[in-house]
Amino acid sequence: MSTAPSDLVVVGAGIVGLAHAFEALANGLSVTVVERDRRPVGASVRNFGHCCIGAQSGELLDIARLSRGGWLRAAAAAGFWAREAGALVVARSEAEAAVLEELHADRGGDAVRLRSAAETAAVLGRPAVGDLVGGAFLPDDLRVNPREAAPALAAWIAQQPGAEIRWGTSVTGVEPGTVHTSRGPVHGRQILVCVGHDLDHLFPEPAERHGIERCRLNMARVKAPAAFRTDSAVLTATSMLRYDAFTAQPSAARLREEVLAHRPELVEIGANVMFTGLPDGTILAGDSHHYDDTTPPFLDERVSRLLLDAIADVLGVERLEVLERWQGVYASSARGPLLVRDLAPGVRALSVTSGVGMTLSFGLAARTFAGTLEPTELEPTEQEPTAL
Ligand SMILES: Cc1cc2nc3c(=O)[nH]c(=O)nc-3n(C[C@H](O)[C@H](O)[C@H](O)COP(=O)(O)OP(=O)(O)OC[C@H]3O[C@@H](n4cnc5c(N)ncnc54)[C@H](O)[C@@H]3O)c2cc1C
Repeated sequence: MSTAPSDLVVVGAGIVGLAHAFEALANGLSVTVVERDRRPVGASVRNFGHCCIGAQSGELLDIARLSRGGWLRAAAAAGFWAREAGALVVARSEAEAAVLEELHADRGGDAVRLRSAAETAAVLGRPAVGDLVGGAFLPDDLRVNPREAAPALAAWIAQQPGAEIRWGTSVTGVEPGTVHTSRGPVHGRQILVCVGHDLDHLFPEPAERHGIERCRLNMARVKAPAAFRTDSAVLTATSMLRYDAFTAQPSAARLREEVLAHRPELVEIGANVMFTGLPDGTILAGDSHHYDDTTPPFLDERVSRLLLDAIADVLGVERLEVLERWQGVYASSARGPLLVRDLAPGVRALSVTSGVGMTLSFGLAARTFAGTLEPTELEPTEQEPTAL
């Protein structure tokens, strides 16, 4: 274990911290990653493994597009599963189809490819077209296996000259040049704190100023129906209510009214009914959104049932066999999608506060080393978070 200062110390071995460590090495810097757990178990392994690029807009779209290349380079270097598989957005009403057509007109036919009901049914492996109206394919989106990607990247980083990962080491405080840990000080010329929602444990003031909360999400891994075999992420109407690319479209208001009228229970649990296939033939299925400053440990079975029944419906099957359930937690803020805060000379905190850290991670890292990631300074406010 080296005691010499690294060029960069990264706190947190989630995907945001690891993407920065990866890009630091690519820039010829030495890096030490300090992680309290023995392997990644945070938001970065609990999600869908969906780099959701085509549904972003504005600056997040620019960062997401930049991220794409970083993901592919990291996957090639570390040897983890990554697919340029895109995303399929399913339309089951005229309002849903209208939003997709408007996005297609907005972004062009290369970025948003409309699909017929029959084509959508075929991708889903549905026995019949049933209530499908159409769909859209977003080709830029990427898929990884979230259980594999961060651990494989961490293992690769740890093997590189000039890199070290200190597992089982809790950071207790940070000052310029030094990270204080449960196993003694770690020195670095630059320090980057990437601890997601736990920023409030280390630095309560910037976390509170940014209005960071914990968003908890019910997730499950289910057995895939026999005919389902797409690697594309699958999004539905409730997904369209969450992502800016869709909500900016003229028919989004009609879609929101429709979902509120016909599926209020999904709106109530903040549902984003979506799913992704894993290489082992199972499906990651979710999710709900509940916001709090502290995360209750209990999983509400009604919430899980609503999500699983909605997904079974999209797949055109009676019921899905559940193999695992878990709760994911990520940093959320109604005040902005990113927290970038310079805490002291050479000490920066970076949390993704919008639930798209997988999508943005490598793009943020690229901007960090290009010197183009600007701090997001905010004044304190009493503003409440929105649920959907
Ligand atoms: C269910 C779910 C679904 C999601 N779906 C998507 C999706 O489809 N697409 C997408 O882009 N994003 C998605 N996200 C969001 C994405 O997973 C997160 O934004 C991203 O993983 C955040 O990465 P991170 O590195 O900041 O956090 P984490 O992965 O949580 O890593 C933070 C790390 O910091 C460590 N740490 C904390 N405090 C300390 C300390 N004091 N000392 C040392 N180490 C510390 C933690 O142990 C942890 O390993 C989803 C999230 C969830 C939970």
